[in-house]
Amino acid sequence: MSAVAQPSTSGNAASGQVSGKPGPPGEVINIKEQAAGLNLVATPLWLYDCNFCANVWGNRAALELFGVDEAGFRQSQLNQLGALSPEQLKTWKGLNDQMHQDVEVDFKEISLTVTSLEPTPGFLTLNPAQRMVLRTTFRPVQVLIDGAVRVISLVQVVQQTYTDIEENHLRMVEICNNHPMFQFLFDENGKLLAANKRAMYNMKEHLGSCENYNLQMYLSIGECDGSLGPDDMYLEAMRVIFKENKPCHRFPQLRWSKRHPGKYRWVLYEMWPLTDPITHQKAVLVCEQNISQVKALEEQFKKQNQRLEAQLEEALAQRDPVHKPAIDIDTPADKTLKLLDKIMRGHEVSAREAMDLRDAILHAGDLRQPVNFNEQLMKNSQTVLDNEVSQSLIQLLSSKRPAKIEEEPAQHVDEALPHLRIKTQPVTQESVRNLIALSKNMPDEVVGVLAKVDDWQFDAFKLNEVSNGRPLSMLSFALFKRCEIVDKWGLHEHKLVKFLMKIEDGYPNNPYHNRIHAADVLQSLHVLVIRGGLINHGYCDETALVSCYLSSIIHDYEHKGVNNDYLIRVSDSLAVLYNDRSPMENHHLAASFQLMNSDEYNFMPKVPHKVREMIRKQVIDMVLATDMKQHFAIHSMFQAKMQLNGSRPSGGSGGKSLRGSPHSTVDGGGQAHKPVDDDQKSLVLQVALKCADLGHLAAPRAVHGRWVSLLEEELFRQGDLEKAKSLAVSALMDRTRGGITKSQTGFFNIVALPLYSAFCKVFPGCRPQLDAVTENYEMWREEEEREKAAEHGTGGMGSRAMAIKRGTGSVGSPAVVGSPVANKSIK
Ligand SMILES: [Zn+2]
Repeated sequence: MSAVAQPSTSGNAASGQVSGKPGPPGEVINIKEQAAGLNLVATPLWLYDCNFCANVWGNRAALELFGVDEAGFRQSQLNQLGALSPEQLKTWKGLNDQMHQDVEVDFKEISLTVTSLEPTPGFLTLNPAQRMVLRTTFRPVQVLIDGAVRVISLVQVVQQTYTDIEENHLRMVEICNNHPMFQFLFDENGKLLAANKRAMYNMKEHLGSCENYNLQMYLSIGECDGSLGPDDMYLEAMRVIFKENKPCHRFPQLRWSKRHPGKYRWVLYEMWPLTDPITHQKAVLVCEQNISQVKALEEQFKKQNQRLEAQLEEALAQRDPVHKPAIDIDTPADKTLKLLDKIMRGHEVSAREAMDLRDAILHAGDLRQPVNFNEQLMKNSQTVLDNEVSQSLIQLLSSKRPAKIEEEPAQHVDEALPHLRIKTQPVTQESVRNLIALSKNMPDEVVGVLAKVDDWQFDAFKLNEVSNGRPLSMLSFALFKRCEIVDKWGLHEHKLVKFLMKIEDGYPNNPYHNRIHAADVLQSLHVLVIRGGLINHGYCDETALVSCYLSSIIHDYEHKGVNNDYLIRVSDSLAVLYNDRSPMENHHLAASFQLMNSDEYNFMPKVPHKVREMIRKQVIDMVLATDMKQHFAIHSMFQAKMQLNGSRPSGGSGGKSLRGSPHSTVDGGGQAHKPVDDDQKSLVLQVALKCADLGHLAAPRAVHGRWVSLLEEELFRQGDLEKAKSLAVSALMDRTRGGITKSQTGFFNIVALPLYSAFCKVFPGCRPQLDAVTENYEMWREEEEREKAAEHGTGGMGSRAMAIKRGTGSVGSPAVVGSPVANKSIK
């Protein structure tokens, strides 16, 4: 190979005759000297090194054609022009080999059509609707480069044309090129056939010369996860795709991060078998996805989701004053479930939270009772609640006695007790016949009151008036008739009415726990069941409906007008009989069932024994649940069973709980959720009766106020009895010191609102009830604020203005007007 530096074929080139006239062997092109002349040639021509697949130099026309500068041109590779067919590549490679095997060989010109479909950055820009076809000649020449003579190709464009191409094809190319995943096409031997733009760009340092690249090289870029090396992975992939003909083969690989040295990332390979559109041979499309990145995105979404959920919680809490009572009434069981729910939803749990829960469980006497409830209340009695209110709430709800109960006996007050104006008539054959006749031919005013029996708000006092003191038996019989149980079950009508009247007469004329209260609870439960969605969702069938009616009818039968604590303190025979465990509730049940079982009152003789047993069990469970000492346990069980411990399932907005089990889907205004088992069904009915027992909290303001004053009077009477027996008077029961008015908001906050809220979460149909309770709560809250303001002005209890003016009804509401109050001992 001659090293003589002589003017070369510049003349030919300059005159545009390079094509067809190879320079004489031995003649050496000196680019430095001849560049100026070659730049004047209008035809694009350039020097190409086939050995390194690199451009060496291009004239001005070539740079213009490719839209790059000199440096850009040198970095460009001819094979980046794109759609070179395998045949073209083969020819090209052959040329390359020949040139290096024997430079003296008599080279022939080789025409090559180079096409490109894509606008390769820095190399070629195309009209997207057309493709450019370059017809070129390759001619070996000797060039002096860096003082040495090398044989390379002189490429000259002899024809440049544009051809319309199918738009769909372009579109596919465009989609592939912009696809976020790296995509490669390998043939059956693992040889690279094509790659999309993202892959080409990101992998340029690995790809080298594309025609030598293969799948094995590709898989060996990263680290392997230890189980399979890149070679094994390769063999496995080829076997699965080409031997087993699986539609897709996926596997992950651990890889060093390119951007963050020393760090790993996970990639996922997806391999799809397909046919190469050009060779029609089997091929495999390999897609690579950075799953570490996907994971990071997921985390980002999760955090965003958490923020949104927190905002939603906050908004709901603001809308709903119930959400956070001043006292923490969550039991350790509730807290545990909430924490687990949080973990399951992928939220972070701090060490602090875990420690708090651990402490709560360690110090809990009972996992279904609020933690340190008494202590919390007493502590709050300095700020939120009055001391006496705290004590009364403890007495009502806690199994422990209040810490500081005054033990000094009170003075005996001999005060005439106001009497109720309920007239009882002995139950006789005639009175029973009369009531049946009356039910079948009701006077207009009774019809008028009973027409509202399906309304959310009902005035039981009015029913008492128009039914001539028979509100309970009248309403009960009407409901039994209406649901057609009497006929369907073949109930003994006469005995049924006799039983209902006997029960009604068994309600003493207590100010509060009397037959009107029983009628009121019966109506409340009736509405909750039929309008709240319990029937629709399968929580209440015919048998359960009978249990509901019966349990509300008897639930305070022969109530003594005092609370269980009193019965226990005075060693009442009931307390002794039932070993201090819910003596009153046990008695309501036992006495009622004794009646029901006697021949005289057995109105279900034809009902199968099994059904009667079911009813009995359900009624017992429901009535025992009305003991407020069971309140937190039942509330907590309800929350757990109905999965209310997680983040709030959509109340009325129609969403689904995130957890998977079918029963966890909470009614979003019509969606179905069904009970999972009998326990859950029974629990729902227990809570329904508890809500109904507090039903007057949802009554219109005046009616509610009347109930509260009656309850207060009943409690004062207990206080009177305690004084008479020289016992310490229970909190809020001393009529000389003011009554339950003080604890209204406390009771709403700690008991009523959480209970109604929980029930409404499961049965959004009961929302009107919760709204009415909330309205009364607001009324009491405003009242308390006014009182506080007045106390600051005038000081002392004297300023406790009476909250509500009540009318005097047939019950003869007591003269106590001053302290509307609490329901703290509804039971
Ligand atoms: Zn009751």
